[in-house]
Amino acid sequence: MEIIDQVINILKEHKLCDNCLGRQFALLGTKATNAERGYSIKMVLTLIGHKYFTIDQEMGENLLKIVAINGFFTPALETLRKKGLELNIESKCEVCENIFSKKEEIARKIAIELENYNFNNFLIGSKIPPRISEKEDMLRSTFEINTSEALKAEINREIGKVLTMITGKNVEFNRPDILIVLDIEDLSLSIEVNPLHISGRYLKLVRGIPQTRWPCRECGGEGCERCNGTGKMYQESVEEIIAKPVLEITEGEETKFHGAGREDIDARMLGNGRQFVLEIKNPKKRDLDLKELENIINDRSEGKIRVMNLNFSNKEEVRRIKALAQTSSKTYSALVELKDQVPPENLELLKTKLSGEIIRQQTPIRVSHRRANLVRTKKVFKVDYKILNSNKMELIIECQGGLYIKEFISGDEGRTEPSISSILNTEAKCLELDVIKVNQI
Ligand SMILES: [Zn+2]
Ligand SMILES: [Zn+2]
Repeated sequence: MEIIDQVINILKEHKLCDNCLGRQFALLGTKATNAERGYSIKMVLTLIGHKYFTIDQEMGENLLKIVAINGFFTPALETLRKKGLELNIESKCEVCENIFSKKEEIARKIAIELENYNFNNFLIGSKIPPRISEKEDMLRSTFEINTSEALKAEINREIGKVLTMITGKNVEFNRPDILIVLDIEDLSLSIEVNPLHISGRYLKLVRGIPQTRWPCRECGGEGCERCNGTGKMYQESVEEIIAKPVLEITEGEETKFHGAGREDIDARMLGNGRQFVLEIKNPKKRDLDLKELENIINDRSEGKIRVMNLNFSNKEEVRRIKALAQTSSKTYSALVELKDQVPPENLELLKTKLSGEIIRQQTPIRVSHRRANLVRTKKVFKVDYKILNSNKMELIIECQGGLYIKEFISGDEGRTEPSISSILNTEAKCLELDVIKVNQI
């Protein structure tokens, strides 16, 4: 009887809809909605009230009145009407202000907003005005209720259910494609679209383009004389070549390019390519045919780059490839010019002395304006060479990611030690550089 007494006490003082009454007992009974809980309790009270009529009319009438007026409950109202008592009632819940009666209307409004978006799942969130949450808190503390759930949770769930019926898409708690936040005050919506991530590998088949968009050093991207008003140091980048068709197709706002490390602007990226994740912000379309996308990117790139193995990805993968880029091994091919001719037996020292060696590398002069000045140690696994003519050779260097190859060749005025130059005891210069393999990560 405890619940019955508790409910009578609540309804004596407060006007509550089925949901808001039922929600106070949300933790009791499963496979039921709060509306069903609330309706059932009001129904039981109506039956009790009706029965009392024959024993103690006043008591029965009072109970039915409580349920009819403060529960705006039709069966109680009709029972009283049959007994000759007409009541005029106002059916406004003092907690939720009848939000639940508008759930279909709200869900339809959301569905219309979402018509322009491609999504596989969604999540509803809501902003509850303080006066409503305070009412709810007051109810719980006054009647010592410890079996309720939050109004917010019920609103999100109930509107989500209707939206699922309309759209056929399910709720996703962990990583929803779309988050809809409903403001209960004015029923306005804000829609947040989760970024779309596409992973793949790219090849850079020409020299002279950076991996990512590079803002002009002079104007910082605003556009100036130096950059011809483009705001960029380089007119295109691997990122932009990939991103342009992707943005068109997804109708996204902007992209962010995450590469597993990067090659120099003048180095090609060959072999099996370099892993990347392209993040597309605010995409409207996410149901993409990635094979077709791959073809479009490759067709439009005019032979400058190629992408392959496109897959849908996520931000965890971004973190993973960033971390692994530092430790995974890379193989480079470098065209090297030597100042002096070196006897063949000395060239053998490259293989014997540098393979397996740890290289200490102070931040190169070339990048010192954007990297902290510190000494990094990176391992060279293997060095091999091929003599091209008296002072030129091709070097194949397999090393840990993050080793600055040009400086490993030149020695960077002693900042990299040991180096090709220090082992051969002559000036060595990297003329051309290609990444020929990034170990599969
Ligand atoms: Zn309510
Ligand atoms: Zn500029």
